[in-house]
Amino acid sequence: MNAHPVVIVGAGLAGLSCAVHLHEAGVPVEVYEASDGVGGRVRSDRTDGFILDRGFQVALTAYPELQRQLDTAALDFRAFEPGALVWRNGKGSVVADPFRRPSQIVSTTIAPIGNPLDKAKVAWLRAKLRRGDPARLLEGTDVTTSAALIHAGFSPTIIDRFFRPLAGGIQLDPQLADSRRVFDITFRMLADGDAVVPASGMQAIPDQLAARLPTGTVRLGAPVASASATSVRLAHGNEIEASAVVVATDGPTASNMLGIAPVASKTVGCVYFGADAAPTDSKCIVLDGSGAGPVLNAAVMSNIASSYAPPGRHLIAAALPGRTDDDIERLARRQLRHWWGEQVDAWDHLATYRIPHGQPRQSPPFDPKQPVHLEDGRFVCGDHRDTASIQGALFSGRRCAEAVISSRTTEEPS
Ligand SMILES: Cc1cc2nc3c(=O)[nH]c(=O)nc-3n(C[C@H](O)[C@H](O)[C@H](O)COP(=O)(O)OP(=O)(O)OC[C@H]3O[C@@H](n4cnc5c(N)ncnc54)[C@H](O)[C@@H]3O)c2cc1C
Repeated sequence: MNAHPVVIVGAGLAGLSCAVHLHEAGVPVEVYEASDGVGGRVRSDRTDGFILDRGFQVALTAYPELQRQLDTAALDFRAFEPGALVWRNGKGSVVADPFRRPSQIVSTTIAPIGNPLDKAKVAWLRAKLRRGDPARLLEGTDVTTSAALIHAGFSPTIIDRFFRPLAGGIQLDPQLADSRRVFDITFRMLADGDAVVPASGMQAIPDQLAARLPTGTVRLGAPVASASATSVRLAHGNEIEASAVVVATDGPTASNMLGIAPVASKTVGCVYFGADAAPTDSKCIVLDGSGAGPVLNAAVMSNIASSYAPPGRHLIAAALPGRTDDDIERLARRQLRHWWGEQVDAWDHLATYRIPHGQPRQSPPFDPKQPVHLEDGRFVCGDHRDTASIQGALFSGRRCAEAVISSRTTEEPS
């Protein structure tokens, strides 16, 4: 057996998950990470007592791999209210899941997001998607999310005022041009559990995985320039020999490094504001019911997790899928002023994140299970191998570790 470690390129969720599985199976492993910390797209900054996730995002408790791979109790999750607060014409209307929040049924019935048939259809869609094994949702005919919603008979009103900001916001896809398979599985996960953040920020998720690796396993500030099946070359020149190489970078980098099919990007901007008073006491995600954007969704994070802001202060996150231009702070402030009035002018601008690769595009026909063991012997994992999500990244990391272990078993002399 080759005595060199398995070398993993990238310490995002996929790379960390792969490393933890290999380490716990007794396989020596080293992780080379280009940046100054673990987590990749799931990192958090701390500024003046605020916790700022690098782009507004949530974990869903229904993600099977989150439950399987993490100690969720230790993450001390804080949950959003199920449903959404849809903001339109200066007013917010609660659109709740009537099965989980029956007391909100009146508000949901009168919310100006579509006609009564649309709302009945949402309940029908929910029931349909919750039936049976979630994996079956990733099969069958595939079309864009927008085409699937039109085909299901939803009116343009509910698509623009509800589905676009909700699904467009979570999947960074304001055009609803991605696969209906991904929409279906996301809608199912939202109905099956809670949207949550760890009390200490999203970074707690990768930190917990990294803490299960021996000290020194992850080398930070170590960008990899190239990778063969038996070694990697660091950007500063050193060559590291490996018993196997796993490329766990984002999709576009993996595609360049490995020569696999190009991975297209969905971009996103996120603007954080600090305020003395919360503009709403809702713990719901707030959706743009105007259909105009560019902020598709927002949240008063300190209502969901008080730890996200210092005492007496509030944290507002505004997400702008598809927008990374210079102007997004001004655009976000202008739109939120329409929602919440002049108080918005007094808010402090805490940070703006522009993320050129937020998620890989998942156009139909979308195949959610791409190979992790390439023909030339190299391995690859990341959210571009499965669904573009925390679930997909964790699953691909585990799947890849299993493939590495199985290849070692096959190579072992009898
Ligand atoms: C703003 C935003 C909102 C999101 N919202 C949600 C959400 O609500 N729910 C959800 O489930 N998912 C969400 N996602 C998606 C989710 O965060 C990602 O799918 C997941 O984190 C991807 O993990 P990964 O390990 O595949 O890739 P990455 O996190 O990209 O990790 C790759 C790692 O490789 C490193 N790397 C790159 N090149 C090199 C190199 N040459 N050498 C060494 N290291 C390298 C990078 O620095 C990085 O640490 C969101 C993403 C963003 C950005």
